[in-house]
Amino acid sequence: MTTASTPDVLAVESQHVLQTYRRQPVVFERGEGTRLFDDHGRAYLDFVSGIGVASLGHANPAIAKALADQATRLVHTSNVYFHPLQGELAAKLSARTGLERAFFCNSGTEAVEACLKVARRFWFTRGETTRTKYVAFSHAFHGRTMGSLSATWDEHYRAPFEPLIPGVTFASTTDPASLESLVDDSTAAVIVEPIQGEGGVRPIPPALASAITAACRRSGALLIADEVQTGCGRTGAFLASPALGLSPDLVALGKALGAGFPVGAAMVSHDVAAAVSAGDHGTTYGGNLLACRAALTFLDELDRGVLAAIPRLSAHLFARLGELAARHPAAIVEVRGAGLMAGLECASDATPIVASALERGLLVNRTSVTVVRLLPAYIVSEADIDEAVAILDQVFSEGART
Ligand SMILES: *Cc1c(COP(=O)(O)O)cnc(C)c1O
Repeated sequence: MTTASTPDVLAVESQHVLQTYRRQPVVFERGEGTRLFDDHGRAYLDFVSGIGVASLGHANPAIAKALADQATRLVHTSNVYFHPLQGELAAKLSARTGLERAFFCNSGTEAVEACLKVARRFWFTRGETTRTKYVAFSHAFHGRTMGSLSATWDEHYRAPFEPLIPGVTFASTTDPASLESLVDDSTAAVIVEPIQGEGGVRPIPPALASAITAACRRSGALLIADEVQTGCGRTGAFLASPALGLSPDLVALGKALGAGFPVGAAMVSHDVAAAVSAGDHGTTYGGNLLACRAALTFLDELDRGVLAAIPRLSAHLFARLGELAARHPAAIVEVRGAGLMAGLECASDATPIVASALERGLLVNRTSVTVVRLLPAYIVSEADIDEAVAILDQVFSEGART
């Protein structure tokens, strides 16, 4: 292994990697639990977790052991053949989500894409070929492929790639009554994130959740819950939808599911699954042995007390963040979120906050311009939370002085 210095890494990247990211100027080489170590050996407390992906912390021993063991046995065979792990993982996810069948893929956007396609396939099978539309919401983020991008709200992501797929309308999350006219018998599905993650950690208001349920019942439209960020325990429950009274027909999962290994899944109800036949959808990599082994190990760890600890950790996190906001009322407008998913709505662009936290050894990230997002690993400790909030307190105190 070569150990290039930071400027070399940045120089090579800037010349040869397609410049689609605005990266923080730090090169990480190693991780352990909630800590990351840069190329100078400096430790950082990680409250980004690879955007909610490293759910069991970095270099988790159970995940490392399982992946190493599986890699010596069998990694990939394609979906042309059976292997022992896909059905086992599907059964376990079915038990946790109440949705009978799983389609495995490699990312969140692919899980959303599968949900969008399967929803259309459902109506096509039923002969309702004019039911092709989707209703999504303001501030929604569903991914970057053409289908999921079509249901993503932000013009900044959409405009350079238009025309996107037609027939997607966006309801305002603050106007539940608008669903009455927007959702009708041409709507294949309504798609919603229980807490909008990339859109700024915005929980769906209960009145909107009720209106979604009512609109789907009235029109027959399917409900897709995009739980790529909120799912797999992030909010303390395996899914965030039930707490809102939502009963989705399809659920997209990703991020935390592979604990760092790329795994996505579209969970599909019995009725919807019955409309799908061989050849309708597919993937080369999806659900290979290594991916399934990672996800199975992740689910085992949830059962070993990881999930049960989240309500306690969450209460601690939101109590500390509430105190922080009370100390900096001019800078922090609102604290939002649930479980181990938190957003600080700031009075201005959060870029300097994120940069200052990085300098002080804390990783947080900015979303929706003014929001500082915290997505710690599920194995975070109360001491880690205290340390992170103490650093944020310094950052906001510093900001108030300048
Ligand atoms: C991250 C995210 C996606 C996209 O997942 P990728 O793995 O980046 O493709 C889709 N939906 C939601 C709600 C997400 O948070």
